[in-house]
Amino acid sequence: MSEIPEYLRTGYITPEELQKFIPLPSEERLRKRPVAIPECPQEIPCAPCREICPTGAISMPTPNDLPIVDYDKCIGCSLCVQICPGLAFFMMHYVGDKARITMPHELLPVPERGEEVVLLNRVGEPVGKGKVLTVVPRERSKGDTPIITVEVPIELAWEVRAVKVVRE
Ligand code: SF4
Ligand code: SF4
Repeated sequence: MSEIPEYLRTGYITPEELQKFIPLPSEERLRKRPVAIPECPQEIPCAPCREICPTGAISMPTPNDLPIVDYDKCIGCSLCVQICPGLAFFMMHYVGDKARITMPHELLPVPERGEEVVLLNRVGEPVGKGKVLTVVPRERSKGDTPIITVEVPIELAWEVRAVKVVRE
């Protein structure tokens, strides 16, 4: 019997484990322009990300295969982040000492552009504060979930995968 992957035991995937399934972009590529990264390690019959990609950057020979992004072909349009029903696609862009992460946002309320938010790690624990740069509301998203781009300290780039709005 094959071993159960660690992410199925814990309920979340670490960047180290993710790298066993997909190649991650180089730092040079991360600094060039926004790039989409699938955090989708399970072979499930699902392919809307591949179908919506305008440049053919997402390869997946059959819907049961894992999505693999050709990072050179990705133009950072964010459509895969919007359409993914599993909330498994993210975009990343390194700018100076910050990282800009584009992610789905399912919690309410939806933050506003320019708002300071609490950054949550993959477990849902607060790890710092960041600033919301853009918001694509649900009515303008290709999927059912708003997506946001948040600026975070670069050392948290691979930790932060959600945010929480805290208003007085
Ligand atoms: S961001 Fe756009 S171009 Fe890049 S992989 Fe996603 S859909 Fe394709
Ligand atoms: S749409 Fe999302 S869940 Fe479906 S294959 Fe693509 S990344 Fe995975």
